[in-house]
Amino acid sequence: MSLHANRRTSGQEAATRAVHVPVVEPEGSSPAATPLHLNHQFVFDSTEALVGAFDGPDAAFLYARMGNPTVRTLEDALADLEGGEGALAYGSGMGAISTVLTALAGSGDHVIAQSSLYGGTHGLLADLQARWGVEVDRVSGADPEEVRALLRPDTRVLYLETIANPTTRVGDLPALAAAVRGRGVTTVVDNTFATPLLCRPLEHGADVVIHSTSKYLGGHGDALGGAAVFASAELRRRVWDQGTMLGAVASPFNAWQTLRGLRTLELRVRRQCDNARELAERLSRHPAVAAVHHPDLPDHPDREVSARILKAGGAVLSFDLEGGGREAAAAFAEGLRLARLSPSLGEVATLVMPPASTSHHKLSAEELRAAGIGEGLVRMAVGIEDVEDLWKDIEQALGEIG
Ligand SMILES: *Cc1c(COP(=O)(O)O)cnc(C)c1O
Repeated sequence: MSLHANRRTSGQEAATRAVHVPVVEPEGSSPAATPLHLNHQFVFDSTEALVGAFDGPDAAFLYARMGNPTVRTLEDALADLEGGEGALAYGSGMGAISTVLTALAGSGDHVIAQSSLYGGTHGLLADLQARWGVEVDRVSGADPEEVRALLRPDTRVLYLETIANPTTRVGDLPALAAAVRGRGVTTVVDNTFATPLLCRPLEHGADVVIHSTSKYLGGHGDALGGAAVFASAELRRRVWDQGTMLGAVASPFNAWQTLRGLRTLELRVRRQCDNARELAERLSRHPAVAAVHHPDLPDHPDREVSARILKAGGAVLSFDLEGGGREAAAAFAEGLRLARLSPSLGEVATLVMPPASTSHHKLSAEELRAAGIGEGLVRMAVGIEDVEDLWKDIEQALGEIG
């Protein structure tokens, strides 16, 4: 059967016209929200234009592993928020971290990393050390002298997190970055917990900022993604080259969802930080709670640093139950009716996790102590709910284990 041409094109059969549907480009008006460009390939009018598209991240769009308009819109938005020279988006935070680290360090190179890091980053560094010949040294993140003492001619990367998980410790980023300046070291900072609203690490001397956009930037727990923001176009180009080989790039759909979430970032994070501070203060007065960890509390060990480099203490808090062990922390988490038990963070709903019996359950009692994680510690990633409802939920769960 053959359907006959009756519009636009002359002489072509329906089979051909169905394939070559003209793409509508808006003229005289433009979309108010970001369009979703799902296509991974692009076509050209000349071979010269096509070959030019291979030139780098800023050439014409060629193939979505190298760049896509929706993904680029997200990258430009994140570069702007972090004050960077450009960004690259990935399929997950770990996609960003593995691409950046393998672009910057290879066999025989030396990396200095903070000892309390996101679990996946820990695993990646251990793997790079065991199987890829990268040497890794750990520092507490509290003392620039520790970093200076470990510096070697082949040190390539200093790897830090703005707010450590789940202890909420805050390293002195400007002093740590200054300790390696001029030594050929790239300072990489995972800013997932702080977001660019609370801290912009590039302004404190970092060279690369990492995000798991799965968390606050997307904000709704429905779009896995990651990003790296760069202080220089040269660094971005280096990481882009590596990324086109590894292929851990962002999907246009997830980038589009993340952009949708980004529009309410400030409202969400402001509310989440206000809620977290309020809950941290109330928890620190509760008789069932031995200690509360949140950078906004006056007795936080890094209070001076956090007041200097963070606009607010963030929306993650943790607390130790009075005389409590793993069982008490697990019973508390299970006793909540509104907040949900989950390993993630950064979404609009409040999520809790007892690290000793979940994310860090493989650590021995000694290792837990060294990481500053109590057996009865509970981590709470506070959402945007009404704070009185959250408090009622916490009080009833504390009452049940009391
Ligand atoms: C979640 C997280 C990551 C990993 O991100 P994914 O998107 O899950 O791959 C890295 N760093 C921090 C601080 C995180 O919270």
